[in-house]
Amino acid sequence: MSNAPPSQSCVFCGSTEKKTHEHIWGDWLKDYVPGRLSKHGYSFQEIDRPGQTIPPSHRIRAGDPLNSQVKIVCAKCNNGWLSRIQQETKPILGPLTQGQPAVLGREAQEKLATWITMATITAEYLNYNPRLVTTTQDQRQQFMETGKPLIGSRIWLGYWEPNRLAQQWLHTSIAVYDEAELPNVTHYDGAPQTNTQVTTVRLGKLLFHVMSSTDPRNISQWDWRDDPRARRLLFPLWPIRHQLIAWPINGMLDWDVSRISQAYIRRLDAIATALGD
Ligand SMILES: [Zn+2]
Repeated sequence: MSNAPPSQSCVFCGSTEKKTHEHIWGDWLKDYVPGRLSKHGYSFQEIDRPGQTIPPSHRIRAGDPLNSQVKIVCAKCNNGWLSRIQQETKPILGPLTQGQPAVLGREAQEKLATWITMATITAEYLNYNPRLVTTTQDQRQQFMETGKPLIGSRIWLGYWEPNRLAQQWLHTSIAVYDEAELPNVTHYDGAPQTNTQVTTVRLGKLLFHVMSSTDPRNISQWDWRDDPRARRLLFPLWPIRHQLIAWPINGMLDWDVSRISQAYIRRLDAIATALGD
């Protein structure tokens, strides 16, 4: 089982028309977050079972992160609804990356959550490994048809005063299944297909943290109970909890970012250890 589409088709609509390069963050973001970085930190981690942590793969990619492109989307999607998401989010997202004061109502929150969903889905393909793509074709199609974040997904915002860390994208793909389901999810390379992902991105002064899964029960109870500081610093964006978000919110430090990005994985490991797995 693989969540990747047949290699020639668009990951959203399934069309086999010619595909185009899509700028993951949107080319326009360069106006707000200057492309002054000649290289940037990039890491991903995969975990097959709780307790079996594979060290994160740390990579330095040449070039500016805003230039990262993936060729997985057909021209019709790219120039149509995906382009509309970029255009509609531009006036909201741009100022947030600068730390400019802003008030986000429900409509703005939903647009922002939709853009973050788009970026998270497409960025998974930077791994070049279909087993690490956690979304299914059904989920991606649902996203295309509704224009809303994936069912059961959760997104938080943070405000980060850039300190010594470069802009960064941290992504973890995890296989989280009940024992009974495991025999049915083995990928052709022998390990289970991942179905749950956690992504933390710093973009200018904006941080977003996203969790999604093909089985929302894997993340629905997550509440940062072990980390009161994260509770204070992260603002829930999706599902929408507040009529308004007044920006900027409380600022976080470099060490908050690394702790927050690893919190879910650490919790899975702790559970596995307790169960003696
Ligand atoms: Zn398409």
